Amino acid sequence: MTHKYNHESELFELITHNSRDMISLINRQGFPEYSSPSSFEITGYTPGEFLKYNFQDHIADSNQKIQWQEVKDNLKQGSFSSLILYKFKIKSGQEHWFESTLQKITDGRGKEDKILIITRDVHQRVLLNEELKSLSMIVNQTNNAIIITNKAGLITFVNDAFESMSGFKEEDILGKKPASFLQGAESDPATIEIMSNAIKDVQPFNVDIINYNAAGNKHWVNIQSEPMYNSNGEHTGFFSIQADISSKKDYESQISKLNSYLNVQNIKLEQINQSLDEFAHVVSHDIKAPARNIKNMLELILKKENSLSPDIKKEYFQVAVDAATELGQLVNNMLEYSRSGRIEEEMQTKNLEEICKETITVYQNEIDKINGKIKLSLNPTEVRVYPILFKRLLGNLLNNAIKYRSDRKLEVSITSYPQNGKVKFEISDNGIGIAADRQKEIFKIFNRIEKRSDNNGIGLSVCKKIAEIHGGEIWVDSELGKGSTFQFEIINQL
Ligand code: ADP
Repeated sequence: MTHKYNHESELFELITHNSRDMISLINRQGFPEYSSPSSFEITGYTPGEFLKYNFQDHIADSNQKIQWQEVKDNLKQGSFSSLILYKFKIKSGQEHWFESTLQKITDGRGKEDKILIITRDVHQRVLLNEELKSLSMIVNQTNNAIIITNKAGLITFVNDAFESMSGFKEEDILGKKPASFLQGAESDPATIEIMSNAIKDVQPFNVDIINYNAAGNKHWVNIQSEPMYNSNGEHTGFFSIQADISSKKDYESQISKLNSYLNVQNIKLEQINQSLDEFAHVVSHDIKAPARNIKNMLELILKKENSLSPDIKKEYFQVAVDAATELGQLVNNMLEYSRSGRIEEEMQTKNLEEICKETITVYQNEIDKINGKIKLSLNPTEVRVYPILFKRLLGNLLNNAIKYRSDRKLEVSITSYPQNGKVKFEISDNGIGIAADRQKEIFKIFNRIEKRSDNNGIGLSVCKKIAEIHGGEIWVDSELGKGSTFQFEIINQL
């Protein structure tokens, strides 16, 4: 449809004066011939000022200028109206988004003459759209899960990341309360209360909590939630961002495990220092006796050299030699004890059955000779140990079970199982047993219940040290005449 114009007509005036849009007429060259009074509100130019400029001069962007020209050319070529969005430089110098409808106007003879332009400031709308576009891009691209709930706390939107993080499909959870399917047995009730109180009081909240996915697996999430309001300031719901923080939580729990391990090790170190004191005390005491013996005998020989018969002299010398041998033996024993505390190997993950069998092999001949039986019941399969030290610990206990056997046919069982985050070992025998009042002492160095040619009271103190190096303790349950069960633990951090 074409329009005939007569801007002097009353009707035209009525429309243009009351319109909030800017209504202008431009001639073929692009110069305005008429502009409605609203030009002032929209562009800052009074209609009079507006008429001084070519319309296109207000368009700063060169591409948009070309677009304008194309729209005008199209009008010439036959089309009657077009819509164009562009940035218009208003009088203050700012650029505002405008939307114009261009309409071809013909004169009385149907010849294209002027262009009627109806212009509207759409700056806010365009900016809002851009903001919305970037917001929706963020919502869709972020790795964080986003949940929007309405005033009643029911889900109205979740993004793709939520679906992939939780495994729940949007259509299955729309209209549900998030807590009704995300939280479960191990979600902390105190944290759930913090969230529900904040929601009740329309307050933001930020919490870490265990959530469950569609497969029922738990994962740690951080939830940041903000109340939303509409333009009237009315509360409309909550906007929540959930980030998977499982790896951070794993890391934290590793650190706290390590800290408690370090604490245990510190306590052990104190105990080791204490046992070193005891060791020094015992050593000095035990060394003094043979040393005094040697000194006494040699002094006696020196003093009474002429009056002593050769036999007696020989006897005295023999006493001195025996004492010197004992002294040498003592020094060897001390060396063995002190070496047991030195870690010269790497901690290794070992197959427990293999390591036990390797230890048993050393004593196999002896066990076969007395027709003894060793029973193994081992769990877990793998342990983290200092292999040489660990074998020495097991070997010493096995050696004792053989050494302190009773008249009964030797039966030893080696059992292990996980307990309280450690691995517990029990080595039971049916030997002579140990009286209750001696059970603590035997772990101290040089402590033995009776002196025999094949014992020195070192084995169990070495076992104690090795158990401590592995983060555990050693003790014994025993009944005289029935048998003993030596027990120790190790921290098994694979
Ligand atoms: P040693 O065997 O050289 O004396 P240990 O430190 O290994 O040194 O043992 C200390 C003491 O504990 C032994 O002398 C013995 O009296 C007692 N003992 C150790 N193991 C057993 C056992 N399995 N049955 C009975 N007594 C034992």
